[in-house]
Amino acid sequence: MNGIAPENVRRDLIDPFGREVSYLRVSVTDRCDFRCEYCMAEEMTFLPKSEVLSLEELDRVCSAFVRKGVRKLRLTGGEPLVRKDIMVLVRSLGRHLESGALDELTLTSNGSQLHRFAGPLYESGVRRINVSIDSLQPDRFRQITRRGELKKVKRGLAAASEAGLAVKINAVALKGLNDDEYDDMIRWCGECGYDLTLIETMPMGEVDHDRADRYLPLSVIRSRLEQTWTLEDLNFSSGGPARYVRVGETGQKLGFITPLSHNFCESCNRVRLTCTGTLYMCLGQNDAADLRFPLRVAKDDELLEAAIDEAIGRKPKGHDFIIDRRDRGPAVPRHMSVTGG
Ligand code: SAM
Repeated sequence: MNGIAPENVRRDLIDPFGREVSYLRVSVTDRCDFRCEYCMAEEMTFLPKSEVLSLEELDRVCSAFVRKGVRKLRLTGGEPLVRKDIMVLVRSLGRHLESGALDELTLTSNGSQLHRFAGPLYESGVRRINVSIDSLQPDRFRQITRRGELKKVKRGLAAASEAGLAVKINAVALKGLNDDEYDDMIRWCGECGYDLTLIETMPMGEVDHDRADRYLPLSVIRSRLEQTWTLEDLNFSSGGPARYVRVGETGQKLGFITPLSHNFCESCNRVRLTCTGTLYMCLGQNDAADLRFPLRVAKDDELLEAAIDEAIGRKPKGHDFIIDRRDRGPAVPRHMSVTGG
């Protein structure tokens, strides 16, 4: 199948606040081989297969978004690399890179399967990948992920570099769990040539502990890091919630994702699709649109495109996350593994 020719791309994904939606994040599965304690409960019930979009359906919906002006696709999950035959989808979506309709196809992964997939990902047109690592201490890494093996992830990272993939490490800032490690992470990322992004923990989905106990504002971390490192502000923005600095001593970029202590919605250019075909127009709001029905009810994409238009027409202005000690429930009931981080 050929990619969409750039002259056939319409740029009609404009929301009510004049923001152009150019970035789609797609959760390709809710399943994961880790159980990161801030992300999932130890015992998770996963979705029955019939509810999950097939690889062909995922391709159809991603391609509809590309036709309507999306320039960047990120596959996430759950763990995207544990989805059976995931490379069939990645290879197929790569055709939009070849045609020039898409600027970037990328993934967020826990890295556990990267040693197997780094080469094929590069061959399919992927050039950058985000890998989540919350601790560089093997025992602690296992404690946070409940089943991950740091050695295996590092093997995957080496394979990624070998294949030519640029790597960004994502680490969630967790009070009392990894807040003594950020200097080590900056140093290690500097040595390996990785960028690093620190993320505030977000109140999404029931987990087995009280999130308020883990919440650590990144403004506090930044001030602490500034005592050791030279942090130069960068104007660079991904249109998302991250603010970037350059670490003078290592030359690498360091990002801070601050959904709680900093409002980043005014420049939001993204929407998120779950593996069941539900489109969330905002990570922190519950309003959503079902794209699975229009996908399954007709072979052509007319109804699907109309449903996308309708959904973008009600993208909200922003969200209002709080982690409140009085209200201990999550602000958003779904887990990040459902919406895709
Ligand atoms: N399995 C992949 C991974 O580990 O990166 C992709 C999915 S995971 C849900 C995506 C990102 O969301 C990870 O970096 C993870 O640390 C982050 N995440 C999950 N739950 C979160 C929460 N409640 N607050 C902040 N970040 C969260």
